[in-house]
Amino acid sequence: MSIQSNIDEIRKRMADACQRSGRSIDSVQLIAVTKTLEPDTMLKAIEYGARVVGENKVQEILRKFDAIPSDVQWHLIGHLQTNKVRQILDYVVLIHSVDSVSLATEIQKRAEKSSRIVDILIEVNVAQEESKHGLKLGDVEPLLREIESMKNIRVCGLMTVAPFTDDPEDVRIYFKELKQLFDHLKGVKLENVKMEILSMGMTNDYEVAIEEGATLIRVGTGIFGERDYHL
Ligand SMILES: *Cc1c(COP(=O)(O)O)cnc(C)c1O
Repeated sequence: MSIQSNIDEIRKRMADACQRSGRSIDSVQLIAVTKTLEPDTMLKAIEYGARVVGENKVQEILRKFDAIPSDVQWHLIGHLQTNKVRQILDYVVLIHSVDSVSLATEIQKRAEKSSRIVDILIEVNVAQEESKHGLKLGDVEPLLREIESMKNIRVCGLMTVAPFTDDPEDVRIYFKELKQLFDHLKGVKLENVKMEILSMGMTNDYEVAIEEGATLIRVGTGIFGERDYHL
């Protein structure tokens, strides 16, 4: 399968999932997850219409950034260490993985220094898996209350990585729970928070995620095929 035909297939499935759930196709955006790929491979997806790429390592973004057209947007979808915040702010338009006061505080500090507003999502470990980053559902609102005093941060929504499973129906419940929290938070008045983005769904489970309300899906394998993620 070529990258082009993979993207065609995903777009079709996205449209079908939107239709099944009564959503408009423009309400969901595809992020091409390009971690471990070299720019020449990334460019094939970009030439075929990918406009947002997702990466999980700061160093990898810095290394590849100049080889990619400047109208492509970069999202950091992986864990961010506080000591890398300073390096990355110039390169990404959205950080999906904020899950602590200390990380938010560092982002605030660096953003204030360069007089910018940084858009972030809060990562939630809905299934409470030991191996994953992210807050418990109940810890999200307290973090948002801390961020109310951080004027250079704008929280745009929530992100989760669901447990890996053969049957995506197994993780529907986690997407539902995150959507419920998202809807609840939309109704809470909080400074520096505008709940608009729900980042959930990967190659295995993006159709279920769309049915449950995802507005961003992050797909790597489905576009580029299997690759070694243990880097
Ligand atoms: C790798 C990765 C993805 C994409 O996973 P695929 O199963 O290859 O689609 C999505 N989100 C995050 C946070 C990732 O690290």
